[in-house]
Amino acid sequence: MSSQPAGHPAAGSAPETGGAGMTMTQKILARKAGLPHVTAGQLVEVDLDLVLGNDVTTPPAIEVFRATGKTRVFDPAKVVLVPDHFTPNKDIKSAEQCRKMRLFAQEQDLSNYHEAGEPEMGVEHVILPDNGLVMPGDAIIGADSHTCTYGALGAFATGVGSTDMACGMATGRCWLKIPGAIRVRLSGAPRGFVTGKDVVLDLIGRIGVDGALYRSLEYTGPGVAALTMEERLTIANMAIEAGAKNGIFPVDDRTLAYLREVAPERLARGEGWIVEPDADASYDETLDIDLSRVPLTVAFPHLPSNTRPVDLAGAVPVDQVVIGSCTNGRMEDMRLAARILSGRRVSKSVRCIVIPGSQRVYARCLEEGLLSIFVAAGALVSAPTCGPCLGGHMGILADGERCVSTTNRNFVGRMGHTGSEVYLAGVPVAAASAVAGRIAAPEEIGIEAPADLRAEWLGTAGPERA
Ligand code: SF4
Repeated sequence: MSSQPAGHPAAGSAPETGGAGMTMTQKILARKAGLPHVTAGQLVEVDLDLVLGNDVTTPPAIEVFRATGKTRVFDPAKVVLVPDHFTPNKDIKSAEQCRKMRLFAQEQDLSNYHEAGEPEMGVEHVILPDNGLVMPGDAIIGADSHTCTYGALGAFATGVGSTDMACGMATGRCWLKIPGAIRVRLSGAPRGFVTGKDVVLDLIGRIGVDGALYRSLEYTGPGVAALTMEERLTIANMAIEAGAKNGIFPVDDRTLAYLREVAPERLARGEGWIVEPDADASYDETLDIDLSRVPLTVAFPHLPSNTRPVDLAGAVPVDQVVIGSCTNGRMEDMRLAARILSGRRVSKSVRCIVIPGSQRVYARCLEEGLLSIFVAAGALVSAPTCGPCLGGHMGILADGERCVSTTNRNFVGRMGHTGSEVYLAGVPVAAASAVAGRIAAPEEIGIEAPADLRAEWLGTAGPERA
């Protein structure tokens, strides 16, 4: 049984010996490999349910695909291409990259090419779950680090390079080393404006950017039920920032409610496989996190693990705030941002850029009047794109500038000049910082979280919720 380490209110950890059973991840991979049992470290080849690529990683993957001699992808419904990093095309080079993807998608009759209009455009890890492309028990590879996002739905999902993406497109299979696992046992419920982003930043702050290296982060415990689907997507999204192979949540009533909304026909056809870990599953370690004790958290430059409670951030002036990305660009994030910005003005010293994560999120913001709130507050609203998250466009930082961002990486030069600084935070802190002109909690600009805030979030399940 674990114990609380001194000095950290929210979490404790304990090494485990474990049994011969399998974790959630191992059970999915065993099934996809056609094996009755797998163990950590074993090399397997698995059948894939989806292969994903974006405008940075797909063009080189197309070259490798051609070099395999294959002329058709393994399944045109299971190769998903999403131009999102430098789109709408920021320059001629990015336009050519997208053109190459578009022509390949047309040649291969891909039903899931997401550039404009239908099916949908936006940031890949926002649109795949929200368009019902991810089901529990799936095995998914994507040529993008944050493919791990889909673990929120009880799937195995991990990032690969363009070469593995190409082989996946050609064969529908991928080789993998079976990961060991860290069990993250959640209890309690987050308080006030604390969200899943704070939970995962706090976790990474504890274990470090290599704390889960080539292992799964498997979430469990009664605290899972206290997290919305959006929060689970945010937490799974940042598994890679702890070095994890994947992050994965159990499927519960909230997951099923979300799937009923985004994938009703697939659910009705009985698609998906709900997996639970064996009772004697082997975990390298168990971390206990009391969600009620997680503080509003900020990751200082230049690592996601360089965290501290916002109360201890000190007076850090801010030049830019970005609210969006595959980490925090969903409806819940937009509504939170609007709650903070409504009736207030962004500081004159701050550029505040709000980026709905998909066209669907954008449209919903429009319907709900959130875009008007953002504009009235003095924020800029962008078309869905990764844009500033990777220093692409739509908000590049100059030398010496500081940005509070709801994205997932704050490495040197991630959002612009190598002399700039990125502070990672959840939406409430980011929006409050935009108003204050410095890193700030909502309470510092006079906003208290309503007592029923979490109950309000938990009352509904998915992207179309009212
Ligand atoms: Fe990557 Fe950022 Fe785009 Fe997410 S929003 S896929 S982290 S570039």
